[in-house]
Amino acid sequence: MLYKGSCHCGKIAFEVEGEIDQAMDCNCSHCSRKGYRLWFAPAASFKLKSAEGDYGVYHFNRHAIDHHFCTVCGCAPFAWGKSPNGDKTAAINLRCIEDLDLSTIKTVQVDGRSF
Ligand SMILES: [Zn+2]
Repeated sequence: MLYKGSCHCGKIAFEVEGEIDQAMDCNCSHCSRKGYRLWFAPAASFKLKSAEGDYGVYHFNRHAIDHHFCTVCGCAPFAWGKSPNGDKTAAINLRCIEDLDLSTIKTVQVDGRSF
């Protein structure tokens, strides 16, 4: 299925292809502050519809993930990271997907705080 996502003001917009089967709820200091519900997709399934690089980037800890956020409205709809085998992976904030009822998606608790 093709999903559309964006920040609140629309400066960052994307499409992602796949089946959203679960939402990761991580308790680390960053995820809990932003309220992320994450789902991961291979880079090939992710298409940025807005200008490449026209967003803020936040790094912390090991700087393994590029956390993108809108410099206008502050939403953080996606990040770039790597899967365990090293492939470029999009981390999608499901709260920024259009017409997705999060209450129908299985939530998986991840204890990122202890990593
Ligand atoms: Zn925005």
